Amino acid sequence: MTTAQLTSPYQHYVYAYPHKTAYRGLEDRPALRDLWAAEPKDALSLYLHIPFCEVRCGFCNLFTRIGAPDGLTGAYLDALERQATAVRDALGASEEVRFATAAFGGGTPTFLTAAELERLCDLAEHRMGADLRAIPLSVEASPATATADRLAVLADRGATRLSLGIQSFVDTEARAAVRPQRRADVEAALGRIRDTRIPVLNIDLIYGIDGQTERSWRHSLDAALAWRPEELYLYPLYVRPLTGLDRRGQDSGPDPAWDDQRLRLYRAGRDHLLAHGYTQQSMRMFRRADAPSQGADDYACQTDGMIGLGCGARSYTAGLHYSFDYAVDMHQIRGIIDTYVSTADFSHAEVGYAMDAHEARRRHLLQSLLQAEGLPADDYRARFGGTPAEDFGPELGRLADRGWLDHTDPTTLRLTPEGLAHSDAIGPELFSPAVRAAMARYERK
Ligand code: SF4
Repeated sequence: MTTAQLTSPYQHYVYAYPHKTAYRGLEDRPALRDLWAAEPKDALSLYLHIPFCEVRCGFCNLFTRIGAPDGLTGAYLDALERQATAVRDALGASEEVRFATAAFGGGTPTFLTAAELERLCDLAEHRMGADLRAIPLSVEASPATATADRLAVLADRGATRLSLGIQSFVDTEARAAVRPQRRADVEAALGRIRDTRIPVLNIDLIYGIDGQTERSWRHSLDAALAWRPEELYLYPLYVRPLTGLDRRGQDSGPDPAWDDQRLRLYRAGRDHLLAHGYTQQSMRMFRRADAPSQGADDYACQTDGMIGLGCGARSYTAGLHYSFDYAVDMHQIRGIIDTYVSTADFSHAEVGYAMDAHEARRRHLLQSLLQAEGLPADDYRARFGGTPAEDFGPELGRLADRGWLDHTDPTTLRLTPEGLAHSDAIGPELFSPAVRAAMARYERK
């Protein structure tokens, strides 16, 4: 662990391990048919990635472009359909192929028109065989694109969760995060979503915005709580390389005052939600205590058996995580989307990271430890034979030295509340040397 990793709580949001910057071109271009031959296929996750947004938020480093020239969304859906056909073919004809969850992410899936969303659902159902009305289906949306016609399609096709990126209910803060929006439009979008009766509403908020105070943060939290969302995600603001905020000169070097602001707002937000009947699932995620469970949380969704379709989506088998090329720079992203759209043969994995037994243990440790409920020692032993302490003694010792491990229950490895607050420092600490080296060699583009 480096000193820098210990001093700043804000190193890296580990929503997937390894990060895509550790992926490399796969010279042998393994055939999907071979990759999936021996995988269990009775509880797969399906993820469809739509890489379009109306604006590019200043903090965003997701794989997405602003707008789409005429015909591009249709051409993208054509490519998705070709990919879906190739992937479904690779999974084989056996009856055991079954999807247990589905998600449309991005980007902003609701950038698509209502008719295009119908087509997306058709593709998931008819090409992939996912029974969308029978399984949890989560969809991300923005206030401007959460229109009544699109929401009606999604509700009709079985959406069980609608996630709305709001970030702040204070217009000046939204502008400071380069996500210009008007409070009135946000409230109208929330009203439309509640009218559709999709069972779970998630609201994303961000803390650490320039000018944000504890008072204005509480104002946003209360505005969100007024809608009684089943879920709330509280994200610390990051300024990452090549994003809009970075280009405006706010580099991401050490900034203890900003770290203090974010930690203070995190604690205030956490305590506020706990006091309002929410339970904490992870550093970012809070769920209303009486809300229906949706299964996949932010870390737990990284199980094996994930099929990602679209040019920014990952797929996971036990032995390989794979995707397409990755970039943050707008020009590069446009090029990768254009390449995807003109691809005819989707039957091979192109870019990825080979997972060995050791990386699988790390991933299990990471994705369990960063959840509030922690890692039951028996689960780990049943899957891997040993104990986390035997496999990761030095790393866990350093977390314990910082007071970040809760020792009250010997059957479960769990973070203390302060440990949870430092999830974004703990996650990177648990990266393997090989993943760290690969990420360090990645050339940003
Ligand atoms: S934060 Fe969401 S809406 Fe904003 S640019 Fe990124 S993907 Fe698009």
